Amino acid sequence: MRVGFIGLGNMGQAMARNLIRAGHQLVLYNRTRERADALAKEGAEVADSPATAAKQEVAITMLADDNALQSVIFGPNGIIQGMQPGGMHVSMSTISPALSQRLSAAHRERGQRYLAAPVFGRPEAAAAGKLTIVAAGPPDAVAKAKPLFDVLGERTFEVSEEPQHANLIKISGNFLIACVIESLGEVFALSRKAGLDPQKPFDVFSKTLFNAPVYKIYGPQIIEGKFSPPGFKLPLGLKDIRLMYAAADQLAVPMPFANVVHDNFLSAIANGHGDLDWSALALVAEERAGVTGGRAA
Ligand code: NAD
Repeated sequence: MRVGFIGLGNMGQAMARNLIRAGHQLVLYNRTRERADALAKEGAEVADSPATAAKQEVAITMLADDNALQSVIFGPNGIIQGMQPGGMHVSMSTISPALSQRLSAAHRERGQRYLAAPVFGRPEAAAAGKLTIVAAGPPDAVAKAKPLFDVLGERTFEVSEEPQHANLIKISGNFLIACVIESLGEVFALSRKAGLDPQKPFDVFSKTLFNAPVYKIYGPQIIEGKFSPPGFKLPLGLKDIRLMYAAADQLAVPMPFANVVHDNFLSAIANGHGDLDWSALALVAEERAGVTGGRAA
């Protein structure tokens, strides 16, 4: 399939590479052209605008946030101008349900198709083609994108015909992960303060009640202080909590834990951890407790 791919950051680069290797013809656009040129050596074409990349049968976007996506869609030489009637936009970034709804309407007006397919999984999972994809949109559009999803991920959940529902699930998932990081940070700070190696409680929990990928990924990372290079940058985590907050606010759903993790993300940034992985949220609990986890204070 001819696929436009827009956004070649930590995630997009690995995903685009897998599509090239699976035999799809990719036309790439990235704000910083060098990242696209690197993949051109592997057989992709490089476009000089989002509109040109989006002229293909399918255009995938994997950009940082709502602002980035809006500028690439509605800005000069944007995707909406480049896409042909009947063309399809597969929006895989983590964005607000509200923007997803707006995009759905904007594409429909122009006879273009739109589906939301945000993903779970870090850049290593993207490189291994093992993402979890949450897809929502018209069933025929999801069916058309399925061969691409099968390359990018190991499992695709079709959750709704309304695209914004996929985005709601994605931000809900990231809210849950942030709560796990926060609670692990608190428990490990407690252990350290008591003079107990945090690996001990982690072994007990991760082999029994909390025998789940989210604990197994983030527990060792926090204990070992492996926050750099960031797989998922801390400010992107804050962005997702803000999205959760806005969606909850709009629907009048109180979510007090979202307040807590939101403020702790701000503390992490205020204390100089903004360049680290979002698991560095756990450092806030350590700092409040006056422990440094063996790292320099
Ligand atoms: P990244 O910061 O590595 O890459 C962001 C991309 O957006 C880059 O291609 C950059 O050029 C582009 N961009 C940013 N601002 C722009 C603008 N104003 N105009 C045009 N382009 C702009 O981010 P990433 O880790 O690849 O994440 C991409 C998306 O996937 C985000 O929505 C993120 O929340 C989501 N996500 C990330 C992970 C992860 O672990 N990294 C996992 C699941 C989902």
